[in-house]
Amino acid sequence: MTSTGSQVRATGTPTVAMRDIRKSFDGVPVLRGVDFEVRAGEVHALVGGNGAGKSTLMKILLGVYTRDAGEILIGGEAVRLASRKDAKAAGIGMVFQEFSLVPTLSVAQNVFLNAEVSRWGLISDRESRRRAREVFASMGVEIDVDAVVGELSTAYWQLTEIAKALARNARILVMDEPTASLARHEVGALFDLLDRLRDQGMSIVYISHRMEEVYRIADRITVLRDGARLFTRSLAQVTPAQVVEGIVGRRADGGADPQRRAPAGDAAVLLEAVDLRAGDRVNGVSFQLREGEILGVAGLMGSGRTELARCLFGIDRLDSGQLRLRGRPVRIGNPRAAQRAGIALIPEDRREQGLILDQSVNDNLLLPLLGQLRHGPLLDLAAGRRLARDLIDRFGIRVAAPDQPVRRLSGGNQQKVVIARWLGTQPKVLILDEPTVGVDVGTKAEIIAITRRLADTGCGVIVISSEFAELLAVSDRVLILRGGAVVDEMARAAIADEESLQLAVQGVEA
Ligand code: ADP
Ligand code: MG
Repeated sequence: MTSTGSQVRATGTPTVAMRDIRKSFDGVPVLRGVDFEVRAGEVHALVGGNGAGKSTLMKILLGVYTRDAGEILIGGEAVRLASRKDAKAAGIGMVFQEFSLVPTLSVAQNVFLNAEVSRWGLISDRESRRRAREVFASMGVEIDVDAVVGELSTAYWQLTEIAKALARNARILVMDEPTASLARHEVGALFDLLDRLRDQGMSIVYISHRMEEVYRIADRITVLRDGARLFTRSLAQVTPAQVVEGIVGRRADGGADPQRRAPAGDAAVLLEAVDLRAGDRVNGVSFQLREGEILGVAGLMGSGRTELARCLFGIDRLDSGQLRLRGRPVRIGNPRAAQRAGIALIPEDRREQGLILDQSVNDNLLLPLLGQLRHGPLLDLAAGRRLARDLIDRFGIRVAAPDQPVRRLSGGNQQKVVIARWLGTQPKVLILDEPTVGVDVGTKAEIIAITRRLADTGCGVIVISSEFAELLAVSDRVLILRGGAVVDEMARAAIADEESLQLAVQGVEA
């Protein structure tokens, strides 16, 4: 093979080699013979749609799950990895999305929490602080090791997690969506750290849905689809479009749909908000939403976006102002009233507010429809099952069976359950708060398409998003929210690009 340029820094034998890994859950194959290897001094991106098997593959490497078949070599030697302990001993560390830190303890105490006591005996406070400082110094990170973790920002939690792995001499680091909870400047710092660890010869597995990040940080990429490896390539040899196509299994077009036309200016006004005020976060919001229109809401964190959604859906009380539906004043005192009026909200924190994780897909889908399915004291179960089946098909929700608990679905499929279930109620106004956070590019495109189809049937849609590209792809018009008030309103056609939207949101004159 010819040299591929400076992109590929990794050389030598793989540190980790997973061969022909197989795993089934309840008889359903999730990994169908996957090969995956990471070299020393390499950042290897692992990508794939929701449910492709990324987390399962990594949990096998971390000793959380045992494989049904296949072989794992670390530094050329076959290992068993029957437990987390085995994996740690083999030098494999993980930085989870959910941090494993104790917030009331100091940074140093967390770094050495449950450390190998047998080898060191009880290490003294002074010794652990000294070692913690050493580890952070090797990471090039300035941090007060005596600070209480709970009082630091999430960026420092993550650094503490990484330090924890390094303190245990991890040579292999697995990171699952590590930038999901970071601010932009923190992402840069994390990447500098990863570069540094790579130069020190670490092997890093980087799971992410974000292509720019993958191209910024990784040397090679492996794409999984439906539990099988599609390809492993150097990033110098594969375009982002090829990667995305690999993930979704077809050409993905996240751009604006040329077919879609904004509703005519004389389309009937569906929902009108007049000077809404609530608490200190909603300070005078007025807008009109027309039939068949998709209205984007852009604003920085704390601009009142989510609070506005909560008022429109009756979760929070309005202090003053008026809402009109088709010209008639309505009072939305609680979510039930909102639902009766034909307003649906798909909340930002779906796992908390949207779903009952331990109940079946079926039950979750039918929750808002129970009134409709009730005949006297009885529920029409057969009709319920038909309805659920129909929603599962229409929204392409990937389930083993409708009785499967929602907890078992991948994040993207959980999100589709939330959307499907509210669309089952046939709302007139649909509010989506951050609809595509944490879902893969394929599901993202599907959700955008579903939203458009819905608007085409006359439904009015409000999309709140912090992703400017998504707002531009989906909206007919964008409201700019700042300090809890609408400060500007822009037709989609009048917004040149993401950057002009960003400037508008930040209140900078272009
Ligand atoms: P990814 O991380 O690529 O989104 P996962 O590895 O989490 O994918 O999931 C792959 C498939 O395995 C999904 O269909 C998921 O529902 C299933 N799965 C994962 N963990 C379990 C489990 N503990 N029990 C049953 N099914 C599971
Ligand atoms: Mg996963």
